[in-house]
Amino acid sequence: MSNHLFDAIRENVKPGAPFIETADGAIWRYSDMIEQSGRLAATLVAMGVKPDDRVAAQVDKSPEALILYLACIRAGAVYLPLNTAYTLAELDYFIGDAEPRLVVVSPRTRQGLEAVAARYGARLETLDEAGGGSLMTGLTEIPAEFTDVARGPDDLAAILYTSGTTGRSKGAMLTHDNLLSNAVALRGHWRFESGDRLIHALPIFHTHGLFVASNVTLLSGASMYLLPKFDADEVLRLMPRATVLMGVPTFYVRLVQHPGLNADVTSSMRLFISGSAPLLAQTHRQFCERTGHAILERYGMTETNMNTSNPYDGERVAGTVGFPLPGVSLRITQPETGTPLADGETGMIEVKGPNVFKGYWRMPEKTKVEFRDDGFFITGDLGKIDERGYVHIVGRSKDVVISGGYNIYPKEIESEIDQLPGIVESAVIGVPHPDLGEGLAAVVVREPGAVVDETTVLTGLRDRLARYKQPKRVIIVDELPRNTMGKVQKNVLRDVFSVLFQ
Ligand code: ATP
Ligand code: MG
Repeated sequence: MSNHLFDAIRENVKPGAPFIETADGAIWRYSDMIEQSGRLAATLVAMGVKPDDRVAAQVDKSPEALILYLACIRAGAVYLPLNTAYTLAELDYFIGDAEPRLVVVSPRTRQGLEAVAARYGARLETLDEAGGGSLMTGLTEIPAEFTDVARGPDDLAAILYTSGTTGRSKGAMLTHDNLLSNAVALRGHWRFESGDRLIHALPIFHTHGLFVASNVTLLSGASMYLLPKFDADEVLRLMPRATVLMGVPTFYVRLVQHPGLNADVTSSMRLFISGSAPLLAQTHRQFCERTGHAILERYGMTETNMNTSNPYDGERVAGTVGFPLPGVSLRITQPETGTPLADGETGMIEVKGPNVFKGYWRMPEKTKVEFRDDGFFITGDLGKIDERGYVHIVGRSKDVVISGGYNIYPKEIESEIDQLPGIVESAVIGVPHPDLGEGLAAVVVREPGAVVDETTVLTGLRDRLARYKQPKRVIIVDELPRNTMGKVQKNVLRDVFSVLFQ
């Protein structure tokens, strides 16, 4: 038997070709990746990591952190990356939930975590941002040859916790084939080749930076510039030597605000990809005006990897997430019953395919209710399919506001507000209201110097929206609360404004 995911990675390895270039100019070749992941896989096995054991890692972004992911795959372990922002209390929850054999943390977290690791019987090692730490001690003396542990398509490769945008994060169990099938689909769809050079400025504890960016690069034998974080100056400096950027919408918002963005600096780039949160149509347009590039937006989630993408050759339509990827079935249903709806109607987005996860870790009941009997996964995102087949995301079902018995989709209201003069962006939420159940509130960010207040917004909406869809209150803020992936945290807004109508 073979190792399903790593065999596919090996097939594309050109030993002398570069795999990673870091900010300080260090180059990791494919041969280094193979050797170091072999040594590290042997180390994991020597530390007692057995097939199906979880290896949790809360580590800074570095080539070694990616090598640790690959070493886990080769050792048959289940890689479990953790957000670097998690506090000790949160780590306690995740480690207790996942019961990893080994926990790898930054040296600055080690001391605080010792008691937690001991309580759950996990071994604790460190990995620092420079690639040192107790995990790496003596690595060079270990032979690089490692016989990969046999793993089939359905064996677990990783558990990834969801972003926690709508509640407590859930551990999504992802198999070797979930990851491989999706990376193969994306490689083809986005035309990745060995000559590609990806600017990697995303965190590596989410699907986007870990699987989409890294696996697609690995399966193409391409290379990436691994940056510790997004910095517009640094990204623009690298662009003339790169071909692809994968980003969250905030990257693109920052880039269009930068005076250095133009057609010259992007002339060697062939593709700009956006996902993880909705890209404003305005950003899409501004970026195109400045560079001539139409950003390609795609849609995915921790549980499913990527589901849809705008086309490579055809029209990339702003405000849509394109078509289902090859092998992915997508339908829109009546949320309560699961009855399929006709094109153009808004309902629950459901997906099925080799990309869809095995279930939530140790949550069989939750897993059961999120799948239909015929195997479709209920994403929790609402959307519609237009007459040309493009999928539009309308929002999350948890964000739908029910006011006075009417269902209100916040995105519809937000789009109207965003079109008013002087508005940068908005978030529409429902908060408790004594008469209506929920009352509609709009939280709005205005352009610098714009003369915009509650009255101008409400007046601007008066003739554009039915009365019940008009916000009862408009609150002006400097910026919307976002998490590391640039997702607007509506739960935070709902908390902050919970007594607005009391
Ligand atoms: P949680 O499930 O814990 O509440 P989360 O859903 O934000 O958090 P992720 O799995 O990281 O966790 O994010 C997936 C979600 O991100 C999708 O369900 C969707 O709502 C949103 N998303 C991803 N890509 C896009 C996109 N292109 N446009 C709009 N929304 C997107
Ligand atoms: Mg989710």
